[in-house]
Amino acid sequence: MRTVNNFINGEFQPGVDQRRFDKVSPVSGEVIASIAEAGKADVDQAVRAAKTALDGEWGLLSPEQRVELLYEVADEITHRFEDFVEAEMADTGQPSHVMRHVFIPRGAANFKVFADVIKNVPTESFMTTTPDGAGALNYALRVPKGVIGVISPWNAPFLLMTWKVGPALACGNTVVVKPSEETPLTAALLGEVMNKVGIPKGVYNVVNGFGPESAGAYLTEHPMVDAITFTGETRTGTAIMKAAAEGTRDVSFEMGGKNAGIVFADADFDAAVDGIFRSAFLNSGQVCLGTERVYVERPIFEKFVLALKQKAEAVNYGAPLEQGVNYGPLISKEHQEKVLSYYRKAVEEGATVVTGGGVPQMPEALLGGNWIQPTIWTGLSDDATVVREEIFGPCCHIRPFDSEQEVIGLANNTEYGLSTTVWTTNLSRAHRVAAKIDVGITWVNSWFLRDLRTPFGGTKQSGIGREGGVHSLEFYTETRNICIKL
Ligand code: NAD
Repeated sequence: MRTVNNFINGEFQPGVDQRRFDKVSPVSGEVIASIAEAGKADVDQAVRAAKTALDGEWGLLSPEQRVELLYEVADEITHRFEDFVEAEMADTGQPSHVMRHVFIPRGAANFKVFADVIKNVPTESFMTTTPDGAGALNYALRVPKGVIGVISPWNAPFLLMTWKVGPALACGNTVVVKPSEETPLTAALLGEVMNKVGIPKGVYNVVNGFGPESAGAYLTEHPMVDAITFTGETRTGTAIMKAAAEGTRDVSFEMGGKNAGIVFADADFDAAVDGIFRSAFLNSGQVCLGTERVYVERPIFEKFVLALKQKAEAVNYGAPLEQGVNYGPLISKEHQEKVLSYYRKAVEEGATVVTGGGVPQMPEALLGGNWIQPTIWTGLSDDATVVREEIFGPCCHIRPFDSEQEVIGLANNTEYGLSTTVWTTNLSRAHRVAAKIDVGITWVNSWFLRDLRTPFGGTKQSGIGREGGVHSLEFYTETRNICIKL
């Protein structure tokens, strides 16, 4: 069994009061690691270490020197690729191909991309006229914001955590990360990487633990944290926003979604079925950008429902490294119970269960895992609970529609605004519909195709702010204006 400690000021530490909690395998239910739980004193130590590093060696590096170090971080992640894949598989229980092709490569890319962004950022300058005719030169400096608190979720742990740590460090900040209590392993491994490549002590710190009255709350409430970037549930965001209000700290929030997939009758049928299948069931539906509401134009509705059902019934459940496995468990028993409660609610509210709706039969060795069937419903009204609330499980409701205008209204009929997928071969329609959906990103004939230079975030209750490419600079830096009288 592994022992994972907090990573503070370049050292792995068990914590002042030595409290620990268990990490349980989503696949088998066995305890696989013992994790140090950071108390208030540990979080305080981590934040102070981050502050000291900011004012010390790290703060003295030029952007070019930082960029070189971040390239080395990315290279070392690639060098230790198998360790990261293994740790992330143990934490999430998801099939190895997801770790190999998405989660871990994106983690390394998060350091390289933002190193490149920072290398190429211009600053603005203005020649200003003055009464004496001599003029003044105004120019802006970009400076780091300070100590950034990074609060991460469990669904794509390494990818989502480095998506914040990469740009924060590229901009010259220091960080204290609070990974999800469900998935602490890769954040700890990254500490080893930081030491190996010579990132100064205190630049990257990790405090483990839970949210309220634990490491998460202690971090967001700490007065020396200058800004908080959070990915997780909308309700948690509300609590963090209250904490950030004390000291008027800046926040960047990436939160929940109830995303629509729109399939027009003129779509490439097979591509649309594949795309909706992936967006509803990849990572066992635990993807913020996943599709839980599917709208299909009436002429192809029946055929579409049947095709998606056949694919959902063909998934191969199993442990990450088993041959042919393409479908893993949910993260925890608690989350499994939450998703199953929605499955029951759908039936109570009159859904037709096209497929799934329960727990699959599993072999003896995997009985302790959090297995769940991919589930499809039809026949619910637009205000049914499972059509309105984010479930974050492998399920979707499919409903027919008759016109472009109708489906735009349906897609926008939600308090969330994270993403949409539109499937059509009509280019004009694609542009028309995409422009009218109130979300942060609309994919046409694709899903999860990300370019890290583009703005990413949500509207309505799905988030505050945009990160990605130069947009990340707006959050991770301050601009300082200098005015020189000539
Ligand atoms: P969560 O909100 O329960 O937890 C996220 C993190 O916040 C964890 O580290 C948790 O310990 C911490 N936390 C909880 N309460 C806290 C508090 N009061 N103060 C400080 N920290 C606290 O979310 P989750 O269950 O880990 O993740 C699933 C959610 O994340 C879904 O809603 C999903 O849509 C969302 N998500 C959004 C995006 C996005 O980019 N928009 C990406 C991934 C996940």
